[in-house]
Amino acid sequence: MIARRLPWLAPIWPLLPPLAARGVHAVLLHGLRGIGKKSLALDLAEALLCSSPQPDGRSCGHCEECRLAAAGSHPDLRWVLPQALAERLLPQAQDDEQAASEAADPAETEGKAPRASREIRVDQVRALSGFLGIAAYRGGRRVVLLAPAESMNAIAANTLLKMLEEPPPATMFVLVSDALDEVLPTIRSRCVLVQVPVPDAGQCLAWLTEQGVADPAAALALASGAPLAALADATEEAIAPEVSAALYRLLERGGALTAAQVVAGVGRDPPVPACVRLMQCWAFDLMQYRARGSVRYHPQRAASIRQLAASARAEGLWRWSEALNGASAAREHPLNPRLVIESLLAGYIDVF
Ligand SMILES: [Zn+2]
Repeated sequence: MIARRLPWLAPIWPLLPPLAARGVHAVLLHGLRGIGKKSLALDLAEALLCSSPQPDGRSCGHCEECRLAAAGSHPDLRWVLPQALAERLLPQAQDDEQAASEAADPAETEGKAPRASREIRVDQVRALSGFLGIAAYRGGRRVVLLAPAESMNAIAANTLLKMLEEPPPATMFVLVSDALDEVLPTIRSRCVLVQVPVPDAGQCLAWLTEQGVADPAAALALASGAPLAALADATEEAIAPEVSAALYRLLERGGALTAAQVVAGVGRDPPVPACVRLMQCWAFDLMQYRARGSVRYHPQRAASIRQLAASARAEGLWRWSEALNGASAAREHPLNPRLVIESLLAGYIDVF
């Protein structure tokens, strides 16, 4: 599901409808991950398809076009997403992938669990030419939403580039990117760039509180100020009690922790984002105890934190914290989860 009606996006909305009015055919929305860029892209798509937009350019929400768009079945609206993302955002994507894997050559998939792709593949971009090669089904505009633009490999990006260079009539491409510098420069130069700013913290905290997040300030800080990322971390990636208990047993050993205990203590398939977040909170408390003599996340383990903070080296702690931040940023990467956690715990041993 794509989060909608996000209050902090209101100030940026007025920039978008005039672009279409000026005849712009490609927009690239960029900014920090987790601030609602796909939501904004969908707002724009719906506004472009709506048969009677409101005075502020937003869709009316009532016409047939709006009804089809809201149901995810407007024939002139096409999403291009990596399969892994489509499965999370679009309910119909899982069925599509199942059909595709059933049709695939069994020799290629035999013995392998199908793994959803994190790339936008060239065949997904090529498939657009069928969509764009005929007139709009409903007689109005066509909209292609593509996210994240940096997940296209070079072949896919060059295929899209040809379409952007010779845009079909009455078509708008809306691209979304979390990492603008990773998008092919030739693609960037064919789009009007719109930066979506990091939202105001006060607005985010109020919104996170409304969503039922227990400690919105901590969640927002850990997500670098991105409210949707903060909500996802706080709700969707909860850790099983036995997994966190095992991790705390390892962390509480501090400098006495051995590589063998790490190997024995980390489960087969640990949830990387949740484990990394737990360790980030642990590192935060160790640093906060050294600096201010207080703990924030682990009051019930304050005695352990106090003892460990006394023997931790400041530079080691800083390095471990950097490694955790790196792992947190890279968590979409298809690495072996067990190795990621074991390597972070090996780094923890070096703190002491
Ligand atoms: Zn409408």
